[in-house]
Amino acid sequence: MRVCQTKQELRLAMADLRSQGTVGLVPTMGYLHDGHMQLVHSAKSECDHVAASIFVNPTQFGSAEDLTNYPSNLDRDLKMLQEAGVSVVFTPTPDIMYHPNAQTIVETTELAQKLMGELRPGHFRGVATVVTKLFNLFQPDRAYFGEKDYQQLQVIKTMVRDLDIPVEIRPVPTVREADGLAMSSRNVLLSPQARTASIVLSKSLDLGQSLAQSGASTEDITKAIADMIRAEPLAELQSVDLRDAETLEEVSGPVTRDVVALLAVTFDPVLLIDQRVLTRKEPS
Ligand code: AMP
Repeated sequence: MRVCQTKQELRLAMADLRSQGTVGLVPTMGYLHDGHMQLVHSAKSECDHVAASIFVNPTQFGSAEDLTNYPSNLDRDLKMLQEAGVSVVFTPTPDIMYHPNAQTIVETTELAQKLMGELRPGHFRGVATVVTKLFNLFQPDRAYFGEKDYQQLQVIKTMVRDLDIPVEIRPVPTVREADGLAMSSRNVLLSPQARTASIVLSKSLDLGQSLAQSGASTEDITKAIADMIRAEPLAELQSVDLRDAETLEEVSGPVTRDVVALLAVTFDPVLLIDQRVLTRKEPS
């Protein structure tokens, strides 16, 4: 496995790797868990070679506190990637990643503003810009992203479509802990009490799914999810939104097509997100 810290090293390693077959890219911010590794395994099963990046991208963080508290363990990450058969890993610093006079950004104008974009202004601009840079640097055939970051996935798909970026985006279902909590590098920041309480996210999404199947309206489902989370004293509900699973546009009435429930909840100060696509009621 080649570990590259500079763009020059990476370009050389990738030219070499691409000459030997198809390449799948797995972009990450490190502190890897089984969710990330599922992306690697999917890439491995569909591509000849797998490349990955580990970069905690400052431009997608709103608060300095969230950025400095972001966990890291590079040695462990590299070991996990090597054992999983990854060929090239890019581990740049922010100084290497960004030109000191960088002036160009990539933004999906509508998608970036709504939902999580309202909660974290500028977040998706940071994501879209860094992912574009990674696509230009690696030039992979496919790139793997988790459905857990559902809006991020839609932003990246839209950006690739709109800018004709020659890469195939492959979504990967959310990997969960045994009790249902979606795996996240941030979970380690939860206190033991908050960790126990955090299962309310997946539980409320399970409730949403059963209500969708029993014919409840999106308004009632939204309220039931919100009520369940508000009943958990350690949880502070930031947002719960039911949206069209493709366009993320607002929906109303009974669930007649695929609708995604998007949750953002803080367990002071840790922000957790989760999502579930609620399937339409089967005709009886
Ligand atoms: P991150 O390091 O949090 O930026 O995540 C890197 C990639 O891993 C993103 O595409 C995430 O959506 C994906 N990912 C994170 N957690 C999970 C999970 N629990 N299941 C599946 N994919 C995940």
